[in-house]
Amino acid sequence: MAGETRQRVVIVGGGTSGWMTAAALAKLLQDRCTIDLIESEAIGIVGVGEATLPHIRGFNEKLGIRESDFMSWTRATFKLGIEFRDWGRIGDRYIHPFGTFGRGKGEVDFHHYWTRLRAAGVDMPPLESFSYACTLARMNRFDLPSTDPARLASTYGYAYQFDALLFAPYLRALAEGLGARRTEGKVVEVIRNNESGNISAVRLESGQEIAGDLFIDCSGFRSLLIGEALEEPFEDWSRWLPADRAVAMPCHTRTEVTPYTSAIAMPAGWRWRIPLQHRTGNGYVYASGFISDDEAAAALVASVEGEPIADPRLLRFRAGRRSRSWVGNCVAIGLASGFLEPLESTSIYLVQAAITALIELFPEREVSPVDRDEFNRLIDLEYDRIRDFLILHYHATQRSDTPFWDYVRTMPVPDSLTEKMELFRSRGRIQKYREGVFLDASWVAVYVGQGILPEGFDPRADVPAENLMQGMAALQSEIRDTVSAVPGHLAYIDRYCAMAPS
Ligand SMILES: Cc1cc2nc3c(=O)[nH]c(=O)nc-3n(C[C@H](O)[C@H](O)[C@H](O)COP(=O)(O)OP(=O)(O)OC[C@H]3O[C@@H](n4cnc5c(N)ncnc54)[C@H](O)[C@@H]3O)c2cc1C
Repeated sequence: MAGETRQRVVIVGGGTSGWMTAAALAKLLQDRCTIDLIESEAIGIVGVGEATLPHIRGFNEKLGIRESDFMSWTRATFKLGIEFRDWGRIGDRYIHPFGTFGRGKGEVDFHHYWTRLRAAGVDMPPLESFSYACTLARMNRFDLPSTDPARLASTYGYAYQFDALLFAPYLRALAEGLGARRTEGKVVEVIRNNESGNISAVRLESGQEIAGDLFIDCSGFRSLLIGEALEEPFEDWSRWLPADRAVAMPCHTRTEVTPYTSAIAMPAGWRWRIPLQHRTGNGYVYASGFISDDEAAAALVASVEGEPIADPRLLRFRAGRRSRSWVGNCVAIGLASGFLEPLESTSIYLVQAAITALIELFPEREVSPVDRDEFNRLIDLEYDRIRDFLILHYHATQRSDTPFWDYVRTMPVPDSLTEKMELFRSRGRIQKYREGVFLDASWVAVYVGQGILPEGFDPRADVPAENLMQGMAALQSEIRDTVSAVPGHLAYIDRYCAMAPS
């Protein structure tokens, strides 16, 4: 009987977003929906997207995925943060860690004490030397965080770097095991109800029609349902995020398998380095107005460390998002809803955020307009915050060595970002929010790492400088001593989640 009242969900697209959605709905809303997923092998998936944020662990846990199994399957490594090189100035290096600075539980945030000493004229070591996560990353070590909040080893989280081509098949096996049905084929027509305008079915090249109550657009950059059929406008943010292309090329690993992703600034954008168990992912994200495709590909080839495994592959995109991600009975998830470049590995996080909101607000029979509006509000919030965070990386630079860096340094930025920067500059404060991604320590890492230093500090940090200096020196050596006893990153992987021999 339950089957008659279940919503028929049709997912168009079987990339990371399609199969994440299918697996999550099949696991968590089993009694409330049936799931059909349509994908086309001839079209394929975007196949990049190898670095993640710690939130993905919560997603996997909800789905009952065993970490060691998942990591072994997707040939994953651990990720403690992102290293930024040459961003503020050529030669600069800092890590945005998935963790706090200091012990993370003082009266005020650690960077206020650090600023307090700087204000007193003390020549302070870099902020990252007071972060357990950064020190682990720099020393190329890894262990799972401690659950004891009294220990320094509890002050960080972690994410994964994995093979994007292996993640969707992993989730597919899970989703199909839970009852999701997959149809191979190309969608050639979207059929709409004349009166409501809602989507009633999609037609495949074979002539088969698949009908549904709720349609999830996971068709990637094509945006087949929400963009092409429903014509929801795209808000273009390329004036702030001018990178619109990437050239990607994996190579054999020649140096360390680091527990972090690297983002190295380049003349017209930046280059990623993502070490996996079996290879290293590389790519140059660039603004085509400032460099040609051939020049970008040549610069990438010249900079990778090991023997290339494939030819350079070009990807095109545009920064921005659909004005609304949920329109009528169609919800767009993943690249179909929008794209923010991979500088902070946020796309898969956005997929997860949309799935979480959809499950919260999942329709009973009819779509409720207030629930739909709430979904759109939540997704807008996520996009807007990430957008500002990304713009900060480009804008907070002293570089003027190429026209690209001149442009981003001097471009007008959204008011919402100007307010955040002013708040930090004045007394080191971070605009607070309760939900969403990139909390205080992330903003502090990037502000300080790129040379935006607070002029003042929280008065509660105004404790005697001598006591502070002693406490900080003790903290630094405790971090170093504790990290020295932690296993190497690869040794940990070998023991815990080594990939199956191919
Ligand atoms: C250069 C680059 C680097 C990136 N790096 C990261 C990163 O480090 N971290 C991160 O989180 N994200 C990253 N991303 C984003 C990440 O790759 C995507 O968010 C993720 O792969 C989800 O893609 P998708 O499933 O929405 O789309 P796709 O993978 O493109 O899947 C689209 C699906 O729709 C199907 N389809 C399309 N048209 C039709 C049709 N007519 N009929 C039937 N099926 C159809 C396709 O067959 C495919 O199955 C990166 C993206 C780019 C471009």
